[in-house]
Amino acid sequence: MITGGAGFLGSHLSERLLNEGNDVLCVDNFYSGTKDNVSHLVGNPHFELMRHDVTFPLYVEVDEIYNLACPASPIHYQRDPVQTTKTSVHGAINMLGLAKRTKARIFQASTSEVYGDPEVHPQEESYWGRVNPIGIRSCYDEGKRCAETLFFDYYRQHKVEIKVVRIFNTYGPRMHPNDGRVVSNFIVQALRGEDITIYGDGSQTRSFCYVDDLIEGFVRLMASPAGVTGPINIGNPNEFTIKELAEAVLAKVGGKSRLVFNPLPSDDPKQRRPDVTLAKNTLDWQPRVQLDEGLDKTIHYFRNFLKA
Ligand code: NAD
Ligand code: UDP
Ligand code: UDP
Repeated sequence: MITGGAGFLGSHLSERLLNEGNDVLCVDNFYSGTKDNVSHLVGNPHFELMRHDVTFPLYVEVDEIYNLACPASPIHYQRDPVQTTKTSVHGAINMLGLAKRTKARIFQASTSEVYGDPEVHPQEESYWGRVNPIGIRSCYDEGKRCAETLFFDYYRQHKVEIKVVRIFNTYGPRMHPNDGRVVSNFIVQALRGEDITIYGDGSQTRSFCYVDDLIEGFVRLMASPAGVTGPINIGNPNEFTIKELAEAVLAKVGGKSRLVFNPLPSDDPKQRRPDVTLAKNTLDWQPRVQLDEGLDKTIHYFRNFLKA
């Protein structure tokens, strides 16, 4: 079962698990995901699509749960912040209750946001983070932190088999063109010849992971021996400033877009780069697709998407 299976990452994971011969139950309330993301899988007898909101209980029989349900981009998770916290917290309780009853392994899509605006760089899993509990990003950050707490308490108290991954900025085909995340925003703006909107002076950094690398990490973590719980960082440690990203996209797409500088949203982390030593040592995992190649693939996708 994949909650949030009709989202950007969930649709790639659905595809991967089906290709490996699994039955996939895709659960989604279509808050930020779409049926279009999985329309090519509907009709496959091993794929089921169920409309359901994980803040409500769910009784199904499954043996592995990937809990991805949660809007991931700031504009989506800030649209209804109370629902965002509910999705992370009530959603985790329900899915952990389901895992406890069915004895399923359960995987949590956590986030680099648990580190907040970090004063340790790069971020390793032992770092506890610096998160504002009352800001506009808190519904997401604190919801995800509380979900991690629930996962570890179900592990200690109820012996549920957990796998917690902390995902760093990931991009690729099937990102929502209007979801506001930086890679999709810049590519879509460049392809349309619109201004490229840099928030702040563009000196803040992010490290961008291509979706296929991330999904490989997910599958390896889920298959790891019981007792490998994480939390484990998955991301690409190559770090870029947002201005460098804008310039790279513009150089690839060409056209007449200009770089414009807009106000920086509050609590926007200044830097972010994963330490992936743990993933390398535990899962024998490391990213293979660098930004240059990943941007080409993503630009190709959006070019066709915008034409259609
Ligand atoms: P997404 O918004 O495309 O996918 C999230 C999916 O969850 C959507 O299909 C949405 O409709 C669904 N959903 C939201 N609330 C729900 C609810 N209450 N019940 C059922 N379904 C619900 O985002 P994504 O990038 O695919 O992210 C997937 C997961 O990975 C999220 O949990 C996100 O926090 C995490 N994550 C993603 C990134 C990234 O860079 N893409 C980084 C860190 C963490
Ligand atoms: N739950 C669920 N599906 C299941 C089992 C439980 O959705 O198959 C929900 C249930 O509604 C409960 C939550 O998961 O609110 C936590 O379950 P747990 O058994 O841990 O707690 P309890 O039911 O004892 O409160
Ligand atoms: N950003 C930007 N222009 C945009 C969208 C985002 O400059 O059109 C910046 C944003 O302020 C942040 C970085 O890019 O510093 C990454 O933003 P995103 O929302 O993709 O991810 P997150 O902040 O959650 O890492």
